[in-house]
Amino acid sequence: MRKIILLGSTGSIGASALKVVSDIPERVAVLGMAAHSSAEKLARQANRFRPSALCLVDESQLGTLRGALEYQPEIYIGEAGLIELAKMPEADMLLVAIVGTGGLRPTLAAIESGKDIAVASKEILVMAGKTIMAAAQSCGVNILPVDSEHNAIFQCLEGRKANDVRRIILTASGGPFRTLPAAELEKVTLQEALQHPTWSMGRKITIDSATLFNKGLEMIEARWLFGVEISQIEVVVHPQSIVHSMVEFTDASILAQLSHSDMCFPIQYAITWPERVANSLKPLDFHHLGSLDFEAPRERDFPALTLARQAGELGATLPAVFNAANEVAVDAFIHEKISFPGIWRLVEETLAAHSPVANPTLDAIIESDAWARKEAANRI
Ligand code: MG
Repeated sequence: MRKIILLGSTGSIGASALKVVSDIPERVAVLGMAAHSSAEKLARQANRFRPSALCLVDESQLGTLRGALEYQPEIYIGEAGLIELAKMPEADMLLVAIVGTGGLRPTLAAIESGKDIAVASKEILVMAGKTIMAAAQSCGVNILPVDSEHNAIFQCLEGRKANDVRRIILTASGGPFRTLPAAELEKVTLQEALQHPTWSMGRKITIDSATLFNKGLEMIEARWLFGVEISQIEVVVHPQSIVHSMVEFTDASILAQLSHSDMCFPIQYAITWPERVANSLKPLDFHHLGSLDFEAPRERDFPALTLARQAGELGATLPAVFNAANEVAVDAFIHEKISFPGIWRLVEETLAAHSPVANPTLDAIIESDAWARKEAANRI
């Protein structure tokens, strides 16, 4: 039985995680839950799953939370509350599914208190992958990827040595503008960018899938999770989102992981690893699946991959700046302050203006994140 703390229970990943908990209740229990500000939703979830502790980051919603609860769990508040919740001694796993970078300190606190980490918030690995992987190694805990691509790679790598790996092949759906002529990208609207062809996800990640920034972030995430060089990571567009990623070994054999595009698959595997547990998820029906297509990404029209490769190879504080500038740019696009291609222009300009700090401490990483947010905002 896994005893988990779920950071980000009211988001899209949180909802899928709770589906997994309902599907295999004999294998997982929720001991803690945290949300940013959706107090009523958090209360509804808590009334059903009965975790012994909750955290609400937005203190102003505390009254709403207390009013809607049908029992009396311990309640923490604010960013500091997330760290307290993440250290709960009765739990053995932290599932981090907070949008943005707020999961970083709670994750390190959970690692230091000996918990395995299931990571859905790719931002924290992009910003501080080196720090997190080193802390996990020194504390003897496992980092289990929840991102569907990385979970697929993790499954393909099971039991293999790093030097058996030649290439990691990250699949990308290509997003809603996969075939749109480059000249028309300038006129893309928010509504069009929010129409993801295969995955139903939150707004930020849906826009990131349309720009390919999501795949750029995932390249850097993979680099740290699996200890490979950026040059060993290749992106291939696969519009059906059935093959979630692949690993090529030194003997040129390739392993892939396939399933329907439902986040319950990777979340369950991260929770039950190293075991496989029967569930109610729908398997693939190859008689009716049709074709699986693969093509090269249009890197010249969607420069996010080039920018990610540069930031990932140079390392230092550049990945943190890449991530933060993109968050600001996506927010500006959502509020119609910049165009769709304006997203990558803003990230490129912010990266170019940054003086990277080599071998950064956690404080230096967080400082670069703040610097990039300010710099990008000033450039809008
Ligand atoms: Mg992904």
